[in-house]
Amino acid sequence: MFSFIVGLFWFLVFAGGGIYLAYNRINLLASSIAVGAALVAYSLFGSASALWLIFLWLAYVPLIIANLEDFRREKISRPALAIYRKMLPSMSDTEREALEAGSVWWDGELFSGMPDWDKLMSSPVPVLSDEEQAFMDGPCEELCRMLDDWDISHHRSDMPTEVWAFIKKHRFFAMIIPKHYGGLEFSAYANAMVITKLSSRNTTAASTVGVPNSLGPAELLLHYGTEEQKDRYLPSLASGDEIPCFALTSPHAGSDAAALIDNGVVCKGTWQGKQITGILLNWDKRYITLAPVATVLGLAFKLYDPDHLIGDQDEYGITAALIPTDTEGVTVGRRHNPLNIAFQNGPTTGENVFVPLDYIIGGQEMAGKGWKMLVELLAVGRAITLPSSAAGGSQAASWSSGAYTTLRKQFGISIAKFDGVGEALARIGGHTYIMNAAVAVTAGAIDQGEKPAVPSAILKYHCTELGRKVANDTMDVHGGKAIMMGPKNYVARGYMATPIAITVEGANILTRSLIIFGQGAIRCHPFVLRELQAAQNENKERGLTEFDDALFSHIGYAISNTARAFFLALTHAKFSNVPLNTPTRRYYQNINRYSAAFALASDFAMLTLGGKLKIKELLSARLGDVLSAMYLASTVLKHFENQGRRASDLPLVEWSVRTLMYHAQEQLHSFLQNFPNRPIAMMLRIFIFPRGRTYSAPSDALGRKVVDLMTSSGEARDRLSQQAYTTLEPGNPLGLLQEALLLSEAMAPLENKVRQAQKDGVIHSTYLGQQIDEAESADIISKAQASQMRDYHQKVLDILAVDDFAPEDFGRSGSVEKTASAKPAKASRKTKKKVASKKKVAKKKVASKKKKKAS
Ligand SMILES: Cc1cc2nc3c(=O)[nH]c(=O)nc-3n(C[C@H](O)[C@H](O)[C@H](O)COP(=O)(O)OP(=O)(O)OC[C@H]3O[C@@H](n4cnc5c(N)ncnc54)[C@H](O)[C@@H]3O)c2cc1C
Repeated sequence: MFSFIVGLFWFLVFAGGGIYLAYNRINLLASSIAVGAALVAYSLFGSASALWLIFLWLAYVPLIIANLEDFRREKISRPALAIYRKMLPSMSDTEREALEAGSVWWDGELFSGMPDWDKLMSSPVPVLSDEEQAFMDGPCEELCRMLDDWDISHHRSDMPTEVWAFIKKHRFFAMIIPKHYGGLEFSAYANAMVITKLSSRNTTAASTVGVPNSLGPAELLLHYGTEEQKDRYLPSLASGDEIPCFALTSPHAGSDAAALIDNGVVCKGTWQGKQITGILLNWDKRYITLAPVATVLGLAFKLYDPDHLIGDQDEYGITAALIPTDTEGVTVGRRHNPLNIAFQNGPTTGENVFVPLDYIIGGQEMAGKGWKMLVELLAVGRAITLPSSAAGGSQAASWSSGAYTTLRKQFGISIAKFDGVGEALARIGGHTYIMNAAVAVTAGAIDQGEKPAVPSAILKYHCTELGRKVANDTMDVHGGKAIMMGPKNYVARGYMATPIAITVEGANILTRSLIIFGQGAIRCHPFVLRELQAAQNENKERGLTEFDDALFSHIGYAISNTARAFFLALTHAKFSNVPLNTPTRRYYQNINRYSAAFALASDFAMLTLGGKLKIKELLSARLGDVLSAMYLASTVLKHFENQGRRASDLPLVEWSVRTLMYHAQEQLHSFLQNFPNRPIAMMLRIFIFPRGRTYSAPSDALGRKVVDLMTSSGEARDRLSQQAYTTLEPGNPLGLLQEALLLSEAMAPLENKVRQAQKDGVIHSTYLGQQIDEAESADIISKAQASQMRDYHQKVLDILAVDDFAPEDFGRSGSVEKTASAKPAKASRKTKKKVASKKKVAKKKVASKKKKKAS
């Protein structure tokens, strides 16, 4: 017995001590001394056999070597670096620029396996300034009031002239432009909130306003433009006199945008009567938002200089320039029809367009820097416009679905009370909360100077995917009401628009498969980028020193993550440090656990698969899902704190984090299941899931709590849809639904009375209208109460109603005049010529047919 206790003691000293040192990342020297001291003590006082002691001392040798820097550098790091250089995956300049763009923020902490929560929790709460709030309450509210989706989408296929004028007058296009150029100079948070609000009302307006405030000429000029270019364009972009668009995509180059073949050749030419050195451009672009009405085109093309007129390079690579659309040879005006959503989108071509060199954004010295500019700006822009649009649509969906499913009754009760409908409702509410949190917290970080490249990809992908889920669920819980198109349908347009957000700014399958983890693994990993840069260092000796340092830090980090992943999984992370002792503390601990597990899995994936991980898209996609789940769950926790830790929001927080972390668990499990190196996968499973998959998805009871807060008026419901346009007015379904919901709550006691009277056999009708009459006659309710009930009943009927049309309304010809664009599309001379020649050909064909017939 005594020897067992002694054995246990020494086991605890070594195993417990080892885990303690690794778990807490005690530095190499201190750890080596501690282990050495324990070995000496064991050798002196333990009862181990000589053979066992020899084995232990031999196992200690690597630790000693790791402390001998010169020795390890020459004998270990130098050969390792040679192998590493051979293994390095080939990387194009465009890939390198994408990897190096932006900054590393909370994503880096999650990648570390030991997140420092203070970094997230200490970031300031994003708030609107008085001016920004006044804009939200004033022009933004007014613009929402002016938007009539049916009129815009069905009749006009465009916004009315007065809406365009209002947008320009109130400088909606100038949220990112500094005040001294006439812009609004709003924070990223305010920009996001404006887009959120507009999206809750109308997708066309939100897209039209979103694009100039995202990646486009203004943003490019602000960061890279020359002073002349800024002075020339920014004031007129701010006032709306210039309408911008940005043209990158072409028939050949979609997801692989860098493969574009649109080109510019440096040559001599005549410009305003003078011989100058300029660029002769040819392009064929498609899918370009605002192109049909644009006056200035941000153009991405490849620049060539075969005659070496500006330097000694033949080819400069992707370059961005600003081209006024009235330049000779430019064609804009034709429109695509993006899923019947009426924002302006179309192709543009340029045929032998000659422009001066100073049309390049940033001037001649920025020739070939176009791709770098774009990926740097995407690091910010991708986190704002599309995620906010998804959040805005979802806020409207949460608001409307909560009210509608309460007002709509089947089988005698509100459909929200059925668990099946409730499950969909909980998803709508929970997913909306996640989007709100991700948008607000990330925009707040951008306002603190971050350019969060990886989080922006996470937001782009996940908010638009969650938006699609919300749109699907909203369709389902509304039934036929959401299917019958017409002015009374407030759901279907958002549903139809969701694939647009999925496709633009990096289509989602690609973003998930290649970008989130692919970029994150290198960018956010504490050592991988350092190792990569060291290996590429032209000064070989300095490169070796840097590589040696990164390599041994990396080994220590991997050992630590193994210990952390195992200990945290074994203990359900119950003892891990968290920033707050609140009801949400367990969720912080869950994230701590998955952070270590993710870091461990990532390291082994990179170690065993190397460059092949790039091709194994599903493995990196699943790791990206784990990183994303942790990131989004962290923003939920931070958002909850930012909003004052309101107890009534707790069900939303719990539902959101549980859903996300359950997904993280399942994706990590699928990753291990599909990992090609089976022994490594089995070993990883022991460390990551020693107790199996113990994390569960939200319970039905938790889902019901979410449904309750969505279906009853109150602060939690209000906060969930805080930016949505819910003003009570005739044309606003969100306002009318809320009015009816409030009335339903007020009328509930009267309805109970009527129901009781029906049960008691005092009234006999089954139709509510008649029941009210009977209840009034039988003095069960007063005359005034009966009138209130009738009023409420009518309002509910109006909300449940759908549109119908006369058969002739379906002929498009009937609405041709109305369909004419309020702002006529600008047809270039070339387009006009094309149309005229097509007409000529058609006339000739008809004439020859007639001739044939006659003969
Ligand atoms: C409404 C709308 C507005 C737009 N506005 C603009 C604009 O203003 N300016 C502009 O320049 N462009 C714009 N675009 C273009 C948009 O950015 C592209 O549509 C997008 O990049 C995808 O290109 P693609 O449509 O050619 O799809 P493809 O590249 O053909 O992709 C098809 C599918 O394959 C997937 N895929 C491709 N490669 C991979 C891979 N390696 N791994 C996994 N999956 C992959 C994609 O994710 C996608 O699901 C707009 C597009 C739309 C629809």
